[in-house]
Amino acid sequence: MSARARTASLARASRPRTRAPRRRARFDAHRRAPTPRGRADAVRTMAADSNNLQRVLVTSRDGLTRELDDDVDAVVLDCDGVVWNGDRLIPGARAAIEALRAKKKRVFFATNNSTKSRAHYAAKFASLGMEVSKYEIYTSAYAAAMYLKQRRFDEIEEGDDAEPRGEHGERGGDARQKKVYVIGERGVMEEMEEAGIDVEAGVYDSVRCTGRDWEEMEEWLDPEDDVGAVVVGSDSAFTFAKLAYASLQIQRGALFIATNPDAGDKIGRALYPGAGAIVNAVATACGEQPEIYCGKPSSFMLDLLCEHTNIDMSRTLVVGDRIDTDIAFGKAGKAGLTALVFTGVTDSEQLREKCLLADADESLADALPDRAIGSLAELVGLTFNPDEVCDSVSDVDTDVNIDEDDMLRAFPVSDAPLPEWSQYDDDDDQFDQTQYAPAS
Ligand SMILES: [Mg+2]
Repeated sequence: MSARARTASLARASRPRTRAPRRRARFDAHRRAPTPRGRADAVRTMAADSNNLQRVLVTSRDGLTRELDDDVDAVVLDCDGVVWNGDRLIPGARAAIEALRAKKKRVFFATNNSTKSRAHYAAKFASLGMEVSKYEIYTSAYAAAMYLKQRRFDEIEEGDDAEPRGEHGERGGDARQKKVYVIGERGVMEEMEEAGIDVEAGVYDSVRCTGRDWEEMEEWLDPEDDVGAVVVGSDSAFTFAKLAYASLQIQRGALFIATNPDAGDKIGRALYPGAGAIVNAVATACGEQPEIYCGKPSSFMLDLLCEHTNIDMSRTLVVGDRIDTDIAFGKAGKAGLTALVFTGVTDSEQLREKCLLADADESLADALPDRAIGSLAELVGLTFNPDEVCDSVSDVDTDVNIDEDDMLRAFPVSDAPLPEWSQYDDDDDQFDQTQYAPAS
């Protein structure tokens, strides 16, 4: 039995036989609270008792209008906490994006969220009444796929004795494509698929991996099934078996690629584990650090955007709601201007604390945003109205799990029969592009 068939067999044996609770009810808890009232006004009235805070805090009703008119050609916006909070649009965000485009600014979106593809995000924008092309969206999942493409994971490696075979010119002999093992969700899978990168099935829905399983797994793995890279991102179905398999492949020489280092996202009152928690688990297990974080705060995603679009970074404004990722990302990519908004995870008090520390230690001032303002609306000189009734997408978008059909599509296990539990799929739980039709 081939290694692939053995791992698929292990996976099938561990599948639960009971029907899972319906997702809609399970994930209601993930819905986020609407944008807090008056947060932006609180920024205006807060006491600017720090030199650095006085320097960065924008209190003018015109926002950054002067900078936008004189110094900026392109704007790169973070999504969660800037444009929307979870599934709900932030007041004034859509009007602000329209205003930026009316000023002939090129607008791009950059998010560390790897659970959804650019196509999925474009559909989400459409459902919120905004026309955004997937080519204007950069995610850490897409960045990871592009990084692997740069490392030629989309190409067939040909050995000396490789012979052409098949009508489409597929090659035989020892010709093979380097595979990638993914700990992640459909966003990463879809971007890998689109980039022509072959994803290894691994132990995709096994949960346990005992010491004996580990020994067997090591025996099963042969050079033909060699995985050239392990991509680790956010995965709400992360298991010990996935951890063990990823660790084994990295110890066998696979590249260790991380989508992003975020510890978590604030959902409700507490942090929901993010990709960083899983990346650190893998790093601890294999004793190696990722060779790259493709998402923020690394500049890779911004460099990629720059390469694709030819924007002048010195005339680019990067806007985000996190200092340690969004602002650091803009600074790493040498953006001309960075701006922090308070509609996401960072509040004005947190900025004030960082400013006070920077007052005492000048070396910390570089990490501060160039500007800080209540919201994206205020950044373009519009009024932020916390009572504005904002659109929200259907709960399809809060789907953080992977359907079995997606797994099969993402992990084509050619020599294994279809799993029996595909009969349990609920039609209404499938991702349906038509639900994201633009608002009329
Ligand atoms: Mg954010």
